[in-house]
Amino acid sequence: MMDRKKRILEILREKNEVTAKELANVFKVSEMTIYRDIKQLEKTGEIIRKHGSILLNTKENKESKTVDTCPICEKAITRSHPYKIVIEDKKTLEACCEHCGFLLHKKYEDKEVSAITYDFITENPITAFNAYFVVASSAKPCCSPSVIPFSSKEDAEKFAKGFGGKVLNFFEAYNEIVNSTNRNIKSCCQPQTIKLSDLKKGE
Ligand SMILES: [Zn+2]
Ligand SMILES: [Zn+2]
Repeated sequence: MMDRKKRILEILREKNEVTAKELANVFKVSEMTIYRDIKQLEKTGEIIRKHGSILLNTKENKESKTVDTCPICEKAITRSHPYKIVIEDKKTLEACCEHCGFLLHKKYEDKEVSAITYDFITENPITAFNAYFVVASSAKPCCSPSVIPFSSKEDAEKFAKGFGGKVLNFFEAYNEIVNSTNRNIKSCCQPQTIKLSDLKKGE
């Protein structure tokens, strides 16, 4: 474990930029395992993440860090662990939250995708398809109806007891969001919508 993190840093010193997928191939471990390493390296401030890539936390890399926006609602992605979809093992897309993540799935419904979400309490990465989601609770960290992920059904049920909402599996939650927001995708996120072009104008 120690060694792998050290090796990751060595690789970064050589290549400057890698993806979790590449690292998973190098170490012959799952991407999930790599994400755990990355999370710790991020905590200690040794690396940063940008556009789904991993970079050393240097001044140059930091300054070139641009604001990513959600491809669905155009809101700036501020979460350190956004919902992540990998399309056909190549392209990584990040959404502001699970709500927009599901709408992103809808866009790529006939493609081979994997998706990673993060447990609301532990922040551990989970394969989204195995997660439980509390949909439409009174907690609204981002877009509504809100979708909050948990790795265990029990935790999701506990959360729903306190904050309301329905505990659903991936496909149930996906259907719920896709059907409830089809009419006007952007309206769910409107108050906090931001356009990068507007930001530039303000400078
Ligand atoms: Zn969004
Ligand atoms: Zn959102």
